[in-house]
Amino acid sequence: MQLDQATVEQLREWEAELAGQYQTIVAKQLNLDVTRGKPSAEQLSLSDTLDGFLEGNYQTDNGTDTRNYGGIDGIAEAKRLGSDLMGVPASHILVGGNASLTLMYQTVLTAYQFGLTGPESAWKNIDKPKVICPVPGYDRHFTVCEQLGIEMITAPMTATGPDMDAVEALIKADSSIRGMWCVPKYSNPTGVVYSDETVDRIAQLGNIAHADFRVFWDNAYAVHDLNSDAPQLASVFDACAKHGTDNTVIQFASTSKITHAGAGVAFMAASDANLAGIKKFLGAATIGPDKVNQLRHAHFLPNRDVLMSHMQKHAELLQPRFDAVLTALDSAFTGTGLGSWETPQGGYFVSFDTRPGCAKETVRLAAEAGVKLTPAGATFPYGQDPNDCNIRIAPSVPSVDEVVGAMEVFVTCVKLASVRQALS
Ligand code: PLP
Repeated sequence: MQLDQATVEQLREWEAELAGQYQTIVAKQLNLDVTRGKPSAEQLSLSDTLDGFLEGNYQTDNGTDTRNYGGIDGIAEAKRLGSDLMGVPASHILVGGNASLTLMYQTVLTAYQFGLTGPESAWKNIDKPKVICPVPGYDRHFTVCEQLGIEMITAPMTATGPDMDAVEALIKADSSIRGMWCVPKYSNPTGVVYSDETVDRIAQLGNIAHADFRVFWDNAYAVHDLNSDAPQLASVFDACAKHGTDNTVIQFASTSKITHAGAGVAFMAASDANLAGIKKFLGAATIGPDKVNQLRHAHFLPNRDVLMSHMQKHAELLQPRFDAVLTALDSAFTGTGLGSWETPQGGYFVSFDTRPGCAKETVRLAAEAGVKLTPAGATFPYGQDPNDCNIRIAPSVPSVDEVVGAMEVFVTCVKLASVRQALS
């Protein structure tokens, strides 16, 4: 279907045909949900032996009783796991509680309210501190900024990561920019892996930005590859060391999509100065993290080989679901100009751009036909997608047949919304 070359007559015919297909779908009274990127029950079951894994032995190698209070930055065994996951020396890792989002929130809060390197570095000292958000991006990053009253400014995502010309220009033009969010591998939602050049340019931002500028490097999908020849992410830790910007990037990761989401372990990797800043905050907020959970995770995933073969089992469950989404998009839209998307090799999402102005209507039509999609706009700060085009598809939870069914609905709704818009 080439909308731009069609006559009004042809558009009306297509509209009638698609409206008929749509009514047939509505009559099926489906109830499918492709909204949130969470592991399926099958994926969660891969880690059920965690329960009882310690068999009553709560001691760490250095004799710490993990059942008791203390150890604000986590046990050595868990730092080793964080190091396997993030590719950063264990000495630079802090192990937290069950959620990296909490660590990110606490880090942004510390930067804003208390200052990561002392009170004079607190972002609140200036009138309007701003954070760069590559878009489309992760809605929960935006919520952190919104709740703390930190203004968000956007930079476009490309197939190689954030548009670095735009990011550098923003930073050079505005000295009140204090931060930037990044999901460098299988970015939420576009699924791209930042190129080596992008990683290197991000590491250099510390040389052009204000001294209190920090990149929140949310590597939530660090080991979440769908196939064995998945793209490699360059080490931002090494790049910062090369450019003398060790304080610029603070990294995060967790086992949420490795073991049990919500009952896993979260990690942060940072320079000594940043770790000192966050530990000061944490020291007031808690007597220590759940070290029992840290220890059983460290024993469950004792080295990088075990971690990667565990992730392979996740990939076997996820790949057919991603295939179902991508096959449906390819066969419906390749060469039509009705939408564009990336082909992720890992992570949890496929991001689809409709023609401008069609995303909200597509999501509405799909909801009426029993398929729940993430609300249009959610992938932008303040819920505002200026082009109303981005839709995030999360296929991990439904069965493969359900994903196929949801995509039939999705494709029909995109077409119908597009034709109706062309007619209007
Ligand atoms: N970061 C990204 C990019 C995510 O997509 C998610 C979950 O969807 C999270 C963080 C949440 O991680 P955690 O469970 O460790 O808080």
